[in-house]
Amino acid sequence: MFNYICEECGKGIVKEKVFDNYRTKIKGYPFVVPEAKIGICDKCGAKHFDPSETKHWEELYNKDLELKHISLSSDEIEAVRKSLGLSMEDFAYLIGCTRQSIYNWEKKDREKPQSRMADLLIKLVRLSFKGEKVDVISFLVDEAKKLGIIIQTGKASALANNIIPLNVKRVPQNYFQESQRNLQLAAKVLEEKELTIAESSSQELIGILHYDYETAALSLEIRKDKFGLRTVDVELITADDKHFIMQNVKFKDNCILLLSDTEYTENKVREIILKPKS
Ligand SMILES: [Zn+2]
Repeated sequence: MFNYICEECGKGIVKEKVFDNYRTKIKGYPFVVPEAKIGICDKCGAKHFDPSETKHWEELYNKDLELKHISLSSDEIEAVRKSLGLSMEDFAYLIGCTRQSIYNWEKKDREKPQSRMADLLIKLVRLSFKGEKVDVISFLVDEAKKLGIIIQTGKASALANNIIPLNVKRVPQNYFQESQRNLQLAAKVLEEKELTIAESSSQELIGILHYDYETAALSLEIRKDKFGLRTVDVELITADDKHFIMQNVKFKDNCILLLSDTEYTENKVREIILKPKS
């Protein structure tokens, strides 16, 4: 391989060099070649790639996808087709390719696997056949993730935004009687009595935090449930920046238990993030 005159500078000789764990892209996807043979010009340092070597990389990539079970094997494709009770011809009609393609993909000693697009489509057909409810966009995003690609679709960010961040603050106990006339007077009387409330980013009261000194439990009572909360994931951030994450917390009488057996009283909480579960 190589040992020819560099066409970049026209002076140097291109010599083979082996790179361990060489990072490249195959069909646009990131891939690490364990041992990559690359030609390097001994004068200008230009890189030269040999077609047989890059073809070998592509084979490694395909094998890797199959080993890691990212793309469907020939057997799996055949199984999907047969579960539908279809001939190669009809399966080709179904998914929009040629019979020859199906034949090639199902061949045990196939040289080339199905394209990524065909792979994804056949996987969707398989999921659908199993009677699973398929969220196509989430499925595709997850499949891309397997290749180390993170895709933020509008849908995904909408889901990510489906969170309710609550700021926690101390207010006088008469906070709820704001509409009453004697607000200032009441504030004086109840000066020392404070409540800890959780309010939305638009400063709307959502709930009140309670700390029970007997059971050392911290809970949140929802005062205004405009979200229809039933089960939530909770992230609680304390004033000293500790993060607690609770999953699948259920509401009981508009109340959720945030922390039990804790020293974090209601006024040691800074922020609560609720993620409603569907
Ligand atoms: Zn050169």
